[in-house]
Amino acid sequence: MAERFDAVDVIHAKRDQHVLTDDQIDWVIDAYTRGVVAEEQMSALAMAILLNGMTRDEIARWTAAMIASGERMDFHKLARPTADKHSTGGVGDKVTLPLAPLVASYGVAVPQLSGRGLGHTGGTLDKLESIAGWRAALTNDEMMRQLDEVGAVVCQAGSGLAPADRKLYALRDVTGTVECIPLIASSIMSKKIAEGTGFLVLDVKFGSGAFMHDYDQAVELAKTMVALGADHGTSTVALLTDMSTPLGLTAGNALEVRESVEVLAGGGPQDVVDITLALAREMLAGAAAGVEAHGVPGAGIAAGSAAASRLSGSLRDADPADALRDGRAMDMWRAMIAAQGGDPDAPLPWARETEVVRADADGVLERLDALQVGVAACRLGAGRTRRDEPVQAGAGIVMHAKPGDHVTAGQPLLTLHTDTPDRFERAQEDLIGAWTIGADAPAGSQAVVRERIAAD
Ligand code: URA
Repeated sequence: MAERFDAVDVIHAKRDQHVLTDDQIDWVIDAYTRGVVAEEQMSALAMAILLNGMTRDEIARWTAAMIASGERMDFHKLARPTADKHSTGGVGDKVTLPLAPLVASYGVAVPQLSGRGLGHTGGTLDKLESIAGWRAALTNDEMMRQLDEVGAVVCQAGSGLAPADRKLYALRDVTGTVECIPLIASSIMSKKIAEGTGFLVLDVKFGSGAFMHDYDQAVELAKTMVALGADHGTSTVALLTDMSTPLGLTAGNALEVRESVEVLAGGGPQDVVDITLALAREMLAGAAAGVEAHGVPGAGIAAGSAAASRLSGSLRDADPADALRDGRAMDMWRAMIAAQGGDPDAPLPWARETEVVRADADGVLERLDALQVGVAACRLGAGRTRRDEPVQAGAGIVMHAKPGDHVTAGQPLLTLHTDTPDRFERAQEDLIGAWTIGADAPAGSQAVVRERIAAD
């Protein structure tokens, strides 16, 4: 069958700063997925997009075409409203672990289709796999059953969602075209919209350990993704959060699970608690708005009914801090882990060796760099630099001080953990210049959540 377009014409159009037509976009994504548009042609087009940008309509159509390349999940049969969270990734970002059971403890279904870590950012699945017996790979039926019976699931994203994106993301990775807001936004949102939840909150990070170092660029990415959600009928809100310093006091798989369990027990570091609660409030409010607008078809609750207004009212009035205090979130965590074969009571692994890094002066810790801590944790074995590399469950870094804390010379600043002590030297090199101890409190706001972006 003759093809509707010639890839070279589409490349010329974007190269010459034209707006691509809907038909061109639909064709190029479909033909690329089918292998008709060659990798070198798609890489030229991706570079033209990086250089010349895309309009809001082009990004929306590009996203729709990527969604159409695969399956879409449907949560309408569930007897609960749904809400989902996506983070653009960072160092020590374990928030999915306390957040999913916390929100689910209010009767909202939370499907978290997650990935493994690559480079300095950790992966949620790698963290949970440090729990004995826990299984990341679920079939769609198993996932739906768990959402129905338990309420929260964190599992591996299946290969059926937006396959065009998987192919394109791998290509962008090796052609210098990852850092392009239209392509990042459409990549993330095509997978999230295909997942089909009623509400999505985005944790868009900025700072050295984030994908977007620059605040204004992170805001632009957040606005683009929120607009894409609106254009596709997925109600979306974004929070801009600080990733210039690691989140919490741990970076590494089992270390982060332990810290997440502390949060679920009503404790844990304040920044992790603050982000978790801010995201939970958005998810509960988003789920409430969804119930008002659409009801909960799977529970026989019609939009506008008394049952819908009772449910949405109770979600709106909920204070998620209560479920951390009274143990409901912890009970949900235990149920969620057990449902996937994990033993929530099994002791978490520790690395075989540790080495302490000490403060080199008295004063205030002004800065502790997220990227350098993330790279060092990865070097110790907590992360991988190739997709097929194994990770060490116990490896990583424990931080004993955070920016703003007073430290004295010689006190432990970091403890490095690994099963393979020959990694200590390189990790110490990665940490050279990673902190500053001075006389003053760190400059600027220390609040971890900086801005909220909702649809216009
Ligand atoms: N994460 C994604 O899924 N896609 C991108 O393009 C960047 C980050």
